[in-house]
Amino acid sequence: MATVGVTHHQMFIDGQDVDSDQVFEIRHPATNELVCTMAKGTVDHADQAVESARRAFESGVWSSKPTEERAAIMRAIGDRIAVDLDDFIEAEISCNGATIRQAIGFHCGLASGHFLYFAEQAERYEFERDVPTVAYPTMSMNRVRREPIGVCAAIVPWNFPLVLGIWKIGPALAAGNSVVVKVDEKTPLSLLKLAQIAHECGVPPGVLNLVSGEGKEVGARLASHPDVDKVAFTGSTAVGREIMRLASGTVKKVTLELGGKAPTIVLPDADLDIAPDGALFGCMLYSGQVCESSTRVLVHESIHDEFVQRMVARARTIKLGDPSDFDTDMGPVVSERQRDRIVDYMERAKADGATVALGGGTPEGPEFESGWWIEPTIFTDVTNDMQIAREEIFGPVMVVIKYSTVKEAIAIANDTDYGLTAGVWGGDYEDAVEVGNQLRAGTVWINNWHQIDPALPFGGYKQSGTGRELGAGALDEYTEAKHMHVDLTTKLERHIFDILLSTPPEA
Ligand code: NAD
Repeated sequence: MATVGVTHHQMFIDGQDVDSDQVFEIRHPATNELVCTMAKGTVDHADQAVESARRAFESGVWSSKPTEERAAIMRAIGDRIAVDLDDFIEAEISCNGATIRQAIGFHCGLASGHFLYFAEQAERYEFERDVPTVAYPTMSMNRVRREPIGVCAAIVPWNFPLVLGIWKIGPALAAGNSVVVKVDEKTPLSLLKLAQIAHECGVPPGVLNLVSGEGKEVGARLASHPDVDKVAFTGSTAVGREIMRLASGTVKKVTLELGGKAPTIVLPDADLDIAPDGALFGCMLYSGQVCESSTRVLVHESIHDEFVQRMVARARTIKLGDPSDFDTDMGPVVSERQRDRIVDYMERAKADGATVALGGGTPEGPEFESGWWIEPTIFTDVTNDMQIAREEIFGPVMVVIKYSTVKEAIAIANDTDYGLTAGVWGGDYEDAVEVGNQLRAGTVWINNWHQIDPALPFGGYKQSGTGRELGAGALDEYTEAKHMHVDLTTKLERHIFDILLSTPPEA
């Protein structure tokens, strides 16, 4: 039900706009102004979307389409994302508060290239492979086919909805599946636009559906739905655990990309002109609301004080403000709930004995009276057992931990429940790589951060998730492997049926 004078958006099911009698209000994180309303989906909408996805899948309208035709449609979608980039940027900034530079560089700027990567995979992926084998007693032909799984649910968070959505929608469509996307209630617009573009470019009705709704109702329904074959989720580890539990009822395939508490080891020979800036970039991008951020910075005692002093000086220059202003370095955090959660963590850090080297609260000034703001914050004198060193804060909050030996730094780095990303800053890259080899994380960056490429796998060790998104293996997560054995012998005696049938056949 729309609010007068405010744009209203509907869900997208079976190629149609679908409304609801309830709405979500989408508010700008920097001002708390009402941006638009979005139909609030229910369990019935989730069921309707799954039914439509199943129908489309069984009809073969997409799943049996020649791969080059699927690829052509996907290429058209990837190109349209680039053409409509400004609309995506506006949608992302107004819903999740990304700054315009971050939206161009990451939130939306990566989207077209990542989608086009999956368009290419639709054509290049080895859907069928003949395997020579001598393992069988009779002559045979053995083929491995990769077939689409069926109906895939994609449950997406608010921080990078477009790109994280594409990481699921792209490989799912490339492999021939049907998809139901569940957007986060705060950030539906960019993926809604993608679904509409996909429809216009020729993705048949029912193949790509989008629903909104409360996670614990609509998301949970998709994760447990008997007719959903796979669920892909990005978000908190707590919800990831719940999704795994819900999916277990029907033994769905699951990929989970969850939280992180990434360590960066700054080696004694790190370049002090680069590494402090790099550590800030690693931690503070998009107000620290990135699962792979470098939130624990481990600094060798010999350079600790100078490193911290340089980093604090640089962090003081970070300009907070209107995310659509090109001069702004850092925008708001996404919601009041998220702001309060971060403030709470900072208060506990102070109580635990950490020293505030910078920030530690909410900024003051008329421009910060509306919306949700946190100062760039650096804590020193942190030990790895403190709560701020163990839990995902999801804000612009860095903890600095001093270490004495590299062995100790590696032990601290790995002493975490998470394992999404890790990094090393060092002058000798062979030494840095040796340290990187010992870090238990799905991605290790040496002398940089946030370097994500669609051709390279992304995902977590330990409680940071299961499975990998992106990379040449991404479609493996959206296909079932089928071994087809075709026996070529025409002679009964060449078979080994006598293992069971010992009585010779009658002449
Ligand atoms: P969340 O994990 O609760 O939500 C992510 C998505 O899951 C949303 O679409 C939500 O509607 C849905 N969801 C929630 N409960 C569900 C359930 N029971 N079943 C199925 N789907 C469900 O994340 P949040 O509440 O937005 O943020 C809380 C914390 O999660 C953050 O502070 C941060 O630490 C973490 N987080 C991590 C990522 C990431 O990229 N790894 C992204 C967002 C949030």
